Amino acid sequence: MMPADLSVGVIGLGAMGRPMADTLMGAGFDVTGFDMEPSRAIGLAHVADSVEDIGRTCDVTLLSLPNSAIVEQVCAKLFAVAPQGHLILDTSTAEPASTRALQAEAAKHGIGFVDGPVSGGAKGAGSGTLLVMAGGIERDVERAMPVLDAMARKVVCCGGSGAGNVAKLINNLLCAAHLSLAGEALQLADKAGLAIDALLDALNAGSGRSAVTEVNLPTWVLSDAYDSGFTMGLMRKDVRLAAALADDLGAEVPMAALAAARWADSVDDLTEGADFNRMVDLSRAVADRDKDAAS
Ligand code: NAD
Repeated sequence: MMPADLSVGVIGLGAMGRPMADTLMGAGFDVTGFDMEPSRAIGLAHVADSVEDIGRTCDVTLLSLPNSAIVEQVCAKLFAVAPQGHLILDTSTAEPASTRALQAEAAKHGIGFVDGPVSGGAKGAGSGTLLVMAGGIERDVERAMPVLDAMARKVVCCGGSGAGNVAKLINNLLCAAHLSLAGEALQLADKAGLAIDALLDALNAGSGRSAVTEVNLPTWVLSDAYDSGFTMGLMRKDVRLAAALADDLGAEVPMAALAAARWADSVDDLTEGADFNRMVDLSRAVADRDKDAAS
């Protein structure tokens, strides 16, 4: 199906949803947006008055919402009005169990449901270069493909419903742990008198590198920019959900549990709205602070 033949409603026009809507429009889709905060839709060609408007009039509804509780509220409204054959594509980072329940409920209404959480941030959303981790029944994922392809440099089909969110939570658990550890690495380099530029040069050519050393440190931390568009509040949610998933599955993950504890404790120092890269500074400073407190 050609983009022009498919109308896409985007619900949640925040740091991710708005650039995704713009990218889909640029790719030729007929896009309508809705956000409970009307200012988020300014400049968009088509704006709906309600969630129900989107469900009634669009072929596909793309969700980019803060958490599962909100996704569930919005889906209940969509289920009430959307015709059979409608497709919901949830790009929010959400709880896998909630996703599976929503997919089952959607199927009762003849509505398709795909979880397609993303990685790549606001920049990736605006340039159509996200990574999408997709979960759902094959037929639904296939139907979502034209929309996913327009937003992504890569779409990984992870498995059945909820599998995309499992992959996303594991991805963000690793990213969160890498951020904490990168702060400790910078602290070590400081104490050893090693220039940070030299350290980064070495790490990024060596086996210790990660997306955090290659992208986050130069782009948002060492530049002092802290404008990634991803917040401490959202990353704390993801780390909490990853830890809950490990608990539910009875997985033994002591290192992950330590990272989760660090991120949970960070509420004392970093607000929900702070850039998530601030965690590097916190772990860079934490050992000194603990030492000061002990002396
Ligand atoms: P955001 O807070 O910037 O945007 C969420 C938007 O949803 C807001 O504009 C808000 O007004 C709107 N909203 C909330 N409740 C609503 C409702 N009931 N009806 C309509 N609109 C509603 O969040 P974000 O950073 O864009 O993240 C969205 C999702 O994408 C989250 O699940 C997040 O974990 C995930 N994510 C974010 C990033 C990132 O870099 N920001 C990267 C990958 C994944």
